Amino acid sequence: MNETLSYIAEPLVNWYEQNKRELPWRQDKEPYHVWISEIMLQQTRIEAVMRYYERFMQALPDVKALSEVDDDALMKLWEGLGYYSRARNLKKAAQVIVTQYDGTFPQPYDELRKLPGIGDYTAGAIASICFDERVPAVDGNVLRVIARYTGSRENVLDPLVKKDVAQRLTAVIPEKAGAFNEGLMELGERVCLPNGEPDCPRCPLKENCTAYREGLTAALPVRIKKQKRTKAQYSVFLLTSPAGRIAIEKRPGSGLLAGLYQLPNIEDFHMDEALLSVLSDWGLEPLTLTVLGEKKHVFTHIDWYMKGYAVTVAKENARFLWVTPQELKETYSLPTAFQKIYRLHENL
Ligand code: SF4
Repeated sequence: MNETLSYIAEPLVNWYEQNKRELPWRQDKEPYHVWISEIMLQQTRIEAVMRYYERFMQALPDVKALSEVDDDALMKLWEGLGYYSRARNLKKAAQVIVTQYDGTFPQPYDELRKLPGIGDYTAGAIASICFDERVPAVDGNVLRVIARYTGSRENVLDPLVKKDVAQRLTAVIPEKAGAFNEGLMELGERVCLPNGEPDCPRCPLKENCTAYREGLTAALPVRIKKQKRTKAQYSVFLLTSPAGRIAIEKRPGSGLLAGLYQLPNIEDFHMDEALLSVLSDWGLEPLTLTVLGEKKHVFTHIDWYMKGYAVTVAKENARFLWVTPQELKETYSLPTAFQKIYRLHENL
């Protein structure tokens, strides 16, 4: 991948220098200006940020002014931008810069990274744009351009993929680090667009771009949101008949562990009376009911919390399949989650 990436620096920097927009925070390389604009741009588009940026700079023209601003006045200046914690962090960081760095922005990247509210991206943007430090500034725009250019099908929402892209870019960042990073961001904003067709014929990277060559621009980048984990609780029964056979049943044909065998169970934890009533509904006559213990099983998107019960019943019935421990071991596959409960019984 780096071999291909090593071709991007020159055309990208040239393109940026010829096509960059004149934005108020680009008129100088003043870290304060770049910092404030980058934090504002994290939540709002460039066109909308202009207005807020001008108003902010008029009220708070430098780090010292920001460090001393009244909280209410700061919130008023931030009104309309949302994410007020970002504004509070700006003031906190300004106070650190004034007290610990004598009002001068710290360098290099690692020092910037220590300031409140300054993450990898913002530190990379300030260090490269203001000081031409060869560090990456990877945001969603950059991830999209790189995924398309390299034809990567990895999930760009995965932090490890982002880290990997940052490392690969670090190896190819030229001396003009600021123009390189800003070029990538601007290319993502204006040419390699997220929705709809990117404007490939106008792109300085088209010659070596995999997505352009192979018609993959609509398919890339791959963005898979991590599913939220959920929890479920089950009361699980190890039902044993007088003949020493154990009750199992087949799970439904779709869903988790589809079509596999399981120990009979019900959702949630319950009092003994409720459990006995369920057993009776199943047509069973329980003789003893003993708590086996609790086990947890972790699936990809769900955690099962199981409470196991050993129950001896007066006789087998047709609702379940009654199998010997030997058959259970050799013929029927019991998923690990239920084996955990079964083993509690073996250890009794
Ligand atoms: S050629 Fe097209 S897909 Fe490739 S980087 Fe440029 S704009 Fe994006």
